[in-house]
Amino acid sequence: MDKPPIIHIAAVSIPAFSHQASLLEFSKRLLHLHPHFHVTCIFPTVGSPPDATISTLHSLPPSLHVTFLPPIPKHHLPQHSPPAVQIQLAVSLSVPSLRNALETLRSTSSSSSPIVAVIADPFANEALEIAKELDLLSFVYFPPSAMTLALFLNLPRLDREISCEYRDLKEPIHIIPGESSMVTINGPDLPEHLQDRSSLSYDLLLQRCKRFDLADGFLVNTFFEMEEAAITALQRQRFSLFPIGPIAQSGSETGSGSGPGSGSGCVEWLEIQPPRSVLYVSFGSGGTLSEEQVNELALGLELSGQKFLWVVRAPSNESANAAYLSNEKQSNNNNNNNDIDSDNFKDSMQFLPSGFLERIRSKRQGMIVSSWAPQARILSHNSTGGFLTHCGWNSSLESIVCGVPMIAWPLFAEQRMNAVLLTEGLKVGLRPKAEGINGVVRKEEIARVVRDLMEDGEEEGNGIRRRIEELREGAGCAMREGGSSTKALSQVVERIENFGS
Ligand code: UDP
Repeated sequence: MDKPPIIHIAAVSIPAFSHQASLLEFSKRLLHLHPHFHVTCIFPTVGSPPDATISTLHSLPPSLHVTFLPPIPKHHLPQHSPPAVQIQLAVSLSVPSLRNALETLRSTSSSSSPIVAVIADPFANEALEIAKELDLLSFVYFPPSAMTLALFLNLPRLDREISCEYRDLKEPIHIIPGESSMVTINGPDLPEHLQDRSSLSYDLLLQRCKRFDLADGFLVNTFFEMEEAAITALQRQRFSLFPIGPIAQSGSETGSGSGPGSGSGCVEWLEIQPPRSVLYVSFGSGGTLSEEQVNELALGLELSGQKFLWVVRAPSNESANAAYLSNEKQSNNNNNNNDIDSDNFKDSMQFLPSGFLERIRSKRQGMIVSSWAPQARILSHNSTGGFLTHCGWNSSLESIVCGVPMIAWPLFAEQRMNAVLLTEGLKVGLRPKAEGINGVVRKEEIARVVRDLMEDGEEEGNGIRRRIEELREGAGCAMREGGSSTKALSQVVERIENFGS
């Protein structure tokens, strides 16, 4: 039988590890299920590519290529603006080189199999315009939830209909009117870009959302059984939606599982802990806490009496995502010594409460890892029984595919919305209460939620464990042959195959 012709597509991401990693995982799955595809991933870059992304490149299949666009120097971006703004401006500054790259891939003279479609990150949706100019099919690959996509697609309408700040609304927001089964969101839980409508951040997002009209469809990193309400509501709004997830890093694979920080000793430490006894604590690839909050968290974990494995990052009193665009988190770890007894390590952890390291060591209660850990491997380990997470969508999905219940501690971006979905919608996590909005979570409250989640006798924790187990099974079914996400991906493939024929 003749081999089907090669179909070549381009996939464009943004300069942020978690988005790049998600797109690479998606591409790997596409190539695994549909081997006649070839994918060229194009990554705009600020300064230098993230170390964590570089460490994933060695494990890519031969039909997956990665091109880094010429880097945008950091000093060309406004220094004090939030990472979300810097990322979007970096993408805009990269448009000329992106256009060149796509034109070259499209040209029949320079490639034996010119690209026929472009798949773009929502924050790189300038690529949709270029795709139209080049007469290519174009999709958005949406790494977060369908609920967040619903918000983005409905933002131009919400902007017209609501005149005050969203955070001042007295009633929770129905993202799509009349869709009562969708979770509603209080204004302060909307993404950080929406918290100040006079900000550049809001304006950039709004302009971006208006550009989604150009897309031929949306590939969303979720699965039908988990977000049925949002998915069907968007389909009723006539958006062409393909729930193809959960696309998540897997503990058995390479990538972040064996990337920076894998020698930290924490997996070895997990090996000697009882089943489901350890709470894993991490705030993603760049989340940071204030000094006061780091102190309360340390004392709260200790007070809970539960075992924990904490990926500690130096505090920042200025912003919750101070480390997001920096490579420090990973390069730190390449020459890192996580030996809790070493003077170097103690010096680097001086911001922790006095005597904390010594106490948790003598009680054998905890393990501290500096800045970066092999998260996917930790979550898939049998000793891990809970995840205190910042609710980044990749982290949330990694927890779901491993069946690990969560403590939702959102920091920035759309993480508050994810926290609402996880705790109020899916009911697979607990959310500690802070003192006021953006206030500090006190140690007693931390100890309470940790116990409620981890202790076997706790009714709330038992219910959460049951529901996340059901969700884990649902995720597995969706990704199997004949499962909802596998079928949705086949529909995308069919659209691309039939394009132009
Ligand atoms: N990650 C990791 N080790 C760490 C911190 C993060 O491997 O110490 C990975 C994690 O597994 C996930 C990604 O980085 O795949 C974080 O993505 P997420 O969307 O959760 O959050 P973000 O980094 O965008 O805030």
